[in-house]
Amino acid sequence: MNEPFADYVLGRSCEGCTMCCKLLRIEALDKPRSQWCKHCDIGTGCKIYQERPTECRDFDCGFLTQANIGDHWKPAKSRMVITLATEPNRLTVFVDPDRPDVWRKDPYFSDIKNWARTAAKNRGRVVITQGTDVFVVTPDGETRLGPVDDDQLIISRRKRGSSGAGVEHITVNRNDPVMAAMRLLKDRDAAKNASPDELAESRRQVDAWLAQHDK
Ligand code: SF4
Ligand code: SF4
Repeated sequence: MNEPFADYVLGRSCEGCTMCCKLLRIEALDKPRSQWCKHCDIGTGCKIYQERPTECRDFDCGFLTQANIGDHWKPAKSRMVITLATEPNRLTVFVDPDRPDVWRKDPYFSDIKNWARTAAKNRGRVVITQGTDVFVVTPDGETRLGPVDDDQLIISRRKRGSSGAGVEHITVNRNDPVMAAMRLLKDRDAAKNASPDELAESRRQVDAWLAQHDK
């Protein structure tokens, strides 16, 4: 739950909504996803508002800040919470497991497919999180990844298989040493400042990790 900010879309607020207090994990409170926070007065607000954790204060709610997200996405009504802040270039939709598959219905699904098309042009992705079950939606369809922890990241790569070329989505632990090499190769500015040897070593580490994954 957030305080009203000047950069909120005109007319939008948290009033009557506490969905993020159910759908998100709050590490500081050891609160898992998809369970109501013990401090939540459901539909009204936070009982420890002044002392709420930084994660709650800093939560970037897409409905509040993104004008291109329609009014029908109001979390209290849609039972879904959108954020663009979990990872760079990723839009995540947290879905209430008590309303399974609500995201597959229109007008939501049409929006999700449109966002997936835009994301694909920008090497981004749209991720649907329903409890621990996670899906990646692309313009061509969707991939069910199954349970993905908050400590895991999703990486995507083009891959050629027996049925032709496609995109594969793989999970990797946030603290896995290979992540440093992946970040270096992905970050244009960091790559520009790296030596040829550093880049070659990073490429070697990533290739070895992917080869291990393919076994
Ligand atoms: S989901 Fe968004 S609108 Fe609803 S309470 Fe949380 S921050 Fe406010
Ligand atoms: S501490 Fe307050 S704002 Fe944070 S999840 Fe719990 S009820 Fe929501």
